[in-house]
Amino acid sequence: METLYRSTRETASRTMTSSQAVLQGLTPDGGLFVPVNLPTAHFDFDQLATMSYQEVAYEVLKLFFTDYTEAELKACIQAAYGTQFDDPAIAPVTKHGKQYYLELFHGPTIAFKDLALQILPQLMTTAAKKNQLASEVVILTATSGDTGKAAMAGFADVPQTRIIVFYPKDGVSAIQKQQMITQAGENTYVVAINGNFDEAQTKVKELLNDPDLHAKLAASQFQFSSANSINIGRLFPQVAYYVYAYAQLIKQGQIKNGDEVNFSVPTGNFGDILAGYYAKQLGTPIHKLICASNRNNVLTDFFNTGVYNKNRDFYLTSSPSMDILVSSNLERLIFYLTGEDPVQTASLMADLKTTGQYSLSPAMRQAIKDFWAGFVTEGQDQYEIHHLYARHHYTIDPHTAVASAVAKQYQAATKDQRPMVVVSTASPYKFPQAVLTAITGEDVTVDGLAAVDQLHDLIKTPIPATVENLRDAPVRHNKVTETAGMGSTIKQILNLN
Ligand SMILES: *Cc1c(COP(=O)(O)O)cnc(C)c1O
Repeated sequence: METLYRSTRETASRTMTSSQAVLQGLTPDGGLFVPVNLPTAHFDFDQLATMSYQEVAYEVLKLFFTDYTEAELKACIQAAYGTQFDDPAIAPVTKHGKQYYLELFHGPTIAFKDLALQILPQLMTTAAKKNQLASEVVILTATSGDTGKAAMAGFADVPQTRIIVFYPKDGVSAIQKQQMITQAGENTYVVAINGNFDEAQTKVKELLNDPDLHAKLAASQFQFSSANSINIGRLFPQVAYYVYAYAQLIKQGQIKNGDEVNFSVPTGNFGDILAGYYAKQLGTPIHKLICASNRNNVLTDFFNTGVYNKNRDFYLTSSPSMDILVSSNLERLIFYLTGEDPVQTASLMADLKTTGQYSLSPAMRQAIKDFWAGFVTEGQDQYEIHHLYARHHYTIDPHTAVASAVAKQYQAATKDQRPMVVVSTASPYKFPQAVLTAITGEDVTVDGLAAVDQLHDLIKTPIPATVENLRDAPVRHNKVTETAGMGSTIKQILNLN
């Protein structure tokens, strides 16, 4: 059956095909695309247990991207999940102590966003061909570090696309900055701004909606698109690794087909964990999805009280990809909690916009029982890294540590003995300074490649090739601009006048 897409906010029955929704990103009314009818899956997990990651991904993606042909979808998967991953399993499941770790950091930028951003460009260019798009797609994005780099790694040298990334000059880690300025690809453009991430983000949103810029782009056969995490071309490929992880546990003899498991997910924009929710709806035997947060615990409060309130202090933590006050993908969960009611969803989102908060009805609160939520302080996060290394010689990054620690909170609170899978979202080598500090208990001040080497001396796990390559990669990007100059920088890059 064909899966068509609609807005979370609109009552009228305007629908789009999956390839149109991939190209469009956001719905015209500001809502998010969701399937009109959730596809029905008939997963045979014993059979899935014999399949490769790519084969499992196909079984999942064919449910969501129904207007792509089998050949098109398989080509997208093949291009996305190949030797750019340093583990042929793509998303290996390992066991340390009592918990399982689903390692999603074996891709080119050593963070989980690669699982989505390696395939999005493939889905997008295939969609452009299918829909006879003549213009070149220009991806415009502001990044606080991880997303921009992962997006560039995905779009680099993809025909008919260009990607322009703005990052705060002094707001990313030493490794992230090095990754940014050495980015290869003739169609990639990286620009540092004298400003912070929020200023860059606000300006990008403004430019994406600037009629004058749009007219100039159209005249030169360009069209803007976005690679951010609300695109269905990023969201649904993430369902695959939940299904794969479950099948791998069967293959490893850890569970029997049908046994329920829990997943603990370090959460920011709510994309990763929402993919887990879809995996559960499709019949994967998941008992609870554990929503793990750092000190920015707006989601913990939301799940525990039914009130989402972003009017609160914002903290910078050692897990920066989770330092978020508004989780954009949560709107999709809200839509399901209302019983797929676009009017109620739109009204709650309007509350959020005007007052910074909204409250769930009692019926909606009843419906969130699939989730359990908790958060950790910086000290607890460091303790988890330290403890896992000391006891099991396994090193995790600060984001994964949040999920690992909250998983234990859940088990202590509920006595639930089901197998627990911690979703591991970044390599420890991406945050060497924070990891060294946690393991040694000393206030480590070295950063960048020096910290990578120091961490390697300690933990001995191989340094990922993508980090090694930074040592002598030539600097290719040195543009710097004021926030106000971002528009003219784009015009200059694209030769618009
Ligand atoms: C983006 C990111 C997260 C948060 O994922 P969401 O889908 O935004 O909830 C967690 N950990 C790392 C390392 C990330 O890059």
